[in-house]
Amino acid sequence: MRPSRVGRNRSRRAASRPSAKRSLTEVTPVDSAQAVYTGGCQCGAVRFRAPGLLEASVCHCRMCQKAFGAYYAPLVSVEEATFRWTRGAPRRYASSNLVQRGFCADCGTPLTYESPQGLAIAAGAFDTPARLPPVIQYGTEAALPFVDALAQLPRRRSDDEAASAFMADIVSNQHPDHDT
Ligand SMILES: [Zn+2]
Ligand SMILES: [Zn+2]
Repeated sequence: MRPSRVGRNRSRRAASRPSAKRSLTEVTPVDSAQAVYTGGCQCGAVRFRAPGLLEASVCHCRMCQKAFGAYYAPLVSVEEATFRWTRGAPRRYASSNLVQRGFCADCGTPLTYESPQGLAIAAGAFDTPARLPPVIQYGTEAALPFVDALAQLPRRRSDDEAASAFMADIVSNQHPDHDT
């Protein structure tokens, strides 16, 4: 198995994908190639360490929409040889004969896309998702008709007046964005 591909079972995608070396540069515009990325689920029962990142992407296919409960799935392919689960491990659901979807059995956070072509981790599960800008979109034939217009929607911050009372009372149970 070559670790240089985001897990996808369509050969035309693999054929059009940029090389791992180029993608590593694109994924880590600021950090060195030796940077170690960590992350985990919302409750912290599952944590991981990913020394090698290959490509950050979003996938619009219907199976990714369903698996993430989202309009599209943000995924970062990782180097399987060096990737480690450092606390717990995901539970898995076989969404097809070729693909497994990993998630935290305790809190439900989507965590993986695993195929014979490689392992990809949910981008939002990383501790530093801002360091993982996507460089390509997959499954665009299934893209929902409004996703390109999301950036034009009206904007409200969480500390706007209407939301501030709610935010003042909130006590987070979410695991912090670092190993504990
Ligand atoms: Zn969890
Ligand atoms: Zn997909």
